[in-house]
Amino acid sequence: MEQRNAEKKPSRKRDGAETSGRAGNGAKTPGRAGNGAKAGNRKSGTAAPLKRVDGAFGLKKKEAPAPKKKPSAKKTVPPADPKPLLREDGTPDVREAVLETVCGVTSSLPGNTLPEIAFAGKSNVGKSSLLNALVNRKALARTSAQPGKTQTINFYRVNGVVYFVDLPGYGFANASESARIAWGKMIENYLHRSEQLKTVFLLVDIRHTPSENDRMMYDWIADQGLRAVVIATKSDKVTRNQLAGRVKDIRAVLGCPDETPVIPFSSETKAGRNEIFAEIVRSM
Ligand code: GDP
Repeated sequence: MEQRNAEKKPSRKRDGAETSGRAGNGAKTPGRAGNGAKAGNRKSGTAAPLKRVDGAFGLKKKEAPAPKKKPSAKKTVPPADPKPLLREDGTPDVREAVLETVCGVTSSLPGNTLPEIAFAGKSNVGKSSLLNALVNRKALARTSAQPGKTQTINFYRVNGVVYFVDLPGYGFANASESARIAWGKMIENYLHRSEQLKTVFLLVDIRHTPSENDRMMYDWIADQGLRAVVIATKSDKVTRNQLAGRVKDIRAVLGCPDETPVIPFSSETKAGRNEIFAEIVRSM
C-alpha cells in the first residue's frame, strides 16, 4: 500500500544535476554511524524535511544545505530494452542487472527517470548478499569481505525498468565524527532529493533487536514521507518457531504500523525473495 502522504511528505528535490555521476571513489572516509543519540519523538504530520538528531547519524540540521553542483561523468552503460520484473506466474525474472552509477560524497545525484528502490541497513546486515540474491548474481554488490569499502551510493539498473539503490551501511563502531557526518549528509541528500525514490527497504538482522540507529533510520524514512519495507535478514539463522516472535519484536521496536511489511529473508535459502519482488513491483 502506498504510504506517501501529500500532507506529510516534505518537498524532496533533486539537486538539479542533469547528468548521471559515475563519480567513482569520491568518498574518502567510511562515514558509518556508531552508536549514537536516541531518536527524538516519533511524530508524523509535520512537513519537516528531516528531524534533528544529535549525533547518531551525524546530522545536525533539518534543512540540507544546497549541495554544490559537481560536474559528473555521463552514463557509460547503454540503456536496455525494458523487461518486466515478474513472469506471468508472479515469480521474479531478472534479465539484466548493471551497476550504472556510483555516487561519492561529492557527486551530484543522477537524473534518473526510472523508479528507484533503496536498500539501507547496518554494515554487515547482509545487504550485499540480499542485492546479489535478488538479481541472481554472485558478486554484483560488493560484500563486507572487502575492508575499507568506499562509501558510495550505487545505482543498479535492473531489467531497464527500475534502479536498486545500495546505500552505504551504518553502525561501523570506529567511524570518526567527521565520517559520520559525511555519511549522514550523503544519505540525507539522497533521501531528501531523489525524485524517483519510491520505497526504502530497511534491513535488520532477524536475530537482534533493532538498534537505535535502525530506529532512527526507520523514522527518517517515514518522516520523509517515503514508503518503508523492513527486511529481517539471515532468517535461516532462526528456527521456524522463533520466526514469528522475532518479526513481532522487530515490528514493536521500530514502531511499524500494520501497513509496513516486515519480510524475513535468507540469502542462503532465498526465502522471502518473491515477497520482496512483489513489494518492489507494488512500489514502482
Ligand atoms: P553487508 O555489509 O550488509 O553488505 O553484508 P554482507 O552481505 O556482506 O553479509 C555480511 C555477512 O553475513 C557475510 O559473512 C555473509 O555471508 C553473511 N550473510 C548475509 N546474508 C546472510 C543470510 O541470509 N544467511 C546467513 N546465514 N548469512 C548471511
